[in-house]
Amino acid sequence: MDKAPVLISLERKDTYCILAFSDDNTFRLDYLEVRKHCQCAKCKPRQVNEQIKIEFEEEISRMMLVKPKVEQVGNYAIRFEWPTGCSSGIHSFEHLRKISESSGQKV
Ligand SMILES: [Zn+2]
Repeated sequence: MDKAPVLISLERKDTYCILAFSDDNTFRLDYLEVRKHCQCAKCKPRQVNEQIKIEFEEEISRMMLVKPKVEQVGNYAIRFEWPTGCSSGIHSFEHLRKISESSGQKV
């Protein structure tokens, strides 16, 4: 198996970001999707089963999603800071790659 791809750049647009990985794959990912998969202590328990998840996703979809601040955490993750609520969501590169593949678009 190859080494897990590392995120090499993240470009912030108004409603989505462009994520480039070390294996030459680049994805366009809506902030909405990042937020729906937030791993912080507040959001993670709201993704444990389908029923809870639907409510959680509806709540997020209703929010005005403002461009988050991003900050790199070590060599393995990105922290997204949302003006509306959660701010401690650390998204590992591996997690970001997974949501890029499932919910993003390859560019
Ligand atoms: Zn969160």
